Amino acid sequence: MKISFEFFPPKTEQGKEKLIQVRQSLSVVSPKYFSTTSGAGGTTQDTTLETVLDIQKNNNIPATPHLSCIGLKKSNIIELLDKYKAININHIIALRGDIPSSIRNMGDFNYANELVEFIRSKYNDNFNIEVAAYPEMHPQAKNIKSDLTHFVNKVKAGANGAITQYFYNADAYFRFQDDVQKLGINIPITPGIMPITNYTKLLNFSNMCGAQIPKWILERLKFYENDLESLNDFGFDVVANLCQTLKNQGVNSFHFYSMNLVEPSLKLAKNII
Ligand code: FAD
Repeated sequence: MKISFEFFPPKTEQGKEKLIQVRQSLSVVSPKYFSTTSGAGGTTQDTTLETVLDIQKNNNIPATPHLSCIGLKKSNIIELLDKYKAININHIIALRGDIPSSIRNMGDFNYANELVEFIRSKYNDNFNIEVAAYPEMHPQAKNIKSDLTHFVNKVKAGANGAITQYFYNADAYFRFQDDVQKLGINIPITPGIMPITNYTKLLNFSNMCGAQIPKWILERLKFYENDLESLNDFGFDVVANLCQTLKNQGVNSFHFYSMNLVEPSLKLAKNII
């Protein structure tokens, strides 16, 4: 079973120290890699790199930076990838990034497929490139057909694999897999798993990123909003069942959105290995 965990770059010294411990605790399930997000428009370029270096220094697990291209020039991407290459990073997650409302200049890339194509043309096979996938459709997509076509374009541009936006409906994932297979795509598509720990945050985030929370789950989370123990128990149950369903159908890699916490990602990961 291939497990990976995603972190965001911490802003404070305290956050950095805490994250070293978090990663140490998560290491017990022998993750394939630890990934670090990057803010759109290059806003966290330095802290993403710092976190990557920290993973290399303190945890004996490969580090995978996310690279979002919106607002960046080709020269920025080259500078960054040269740095990553120099520290032996050979796996990245290539993204467009969410377009910040304050953005003045979109940069040299409009979509992630252009970034993937650029990286392949400049670095050949130096990087294993993963891209984002949206089983429930990207919120800005015109329709499902065009979203699938755009996903296929990213793969044709040179992506080796994909990680999905989180979802709580396994059928969306299986249907997405079937759809892209019919379009000739056979790369591994790793489900992104979002643990459930907070009603309001999950609701807001899901509205933003277009992930659907089924009503039967939403109503229960709303009911348990001020009873954290029940909410966590229920949330664990829902996500553990989702992972089990995926595993029963042959899924053998899982990417956890850890939110820089040990639990519940660790408990969920231990449950499926
Ligand atoms: P694209 O693949 O470029 O797609 C974006 C939208 O444009 C889609 O609706 C697509 O259908 C459409 N599109 C694509 N090509 C065309 C075209 N030629 N013409 C018209 N429309 C087109 N965000 C961050 O800022 N930092 C991160 O670290 C980060 N990590 C992520 C990790 C994972 C696993 C996932 C699933 C998402 C992550 N995101 C991150 C969020 C992501 O950046 C956003 O969802 C963003 O809005 C889209 O990025 P993308 O790479 O999927 O874009």
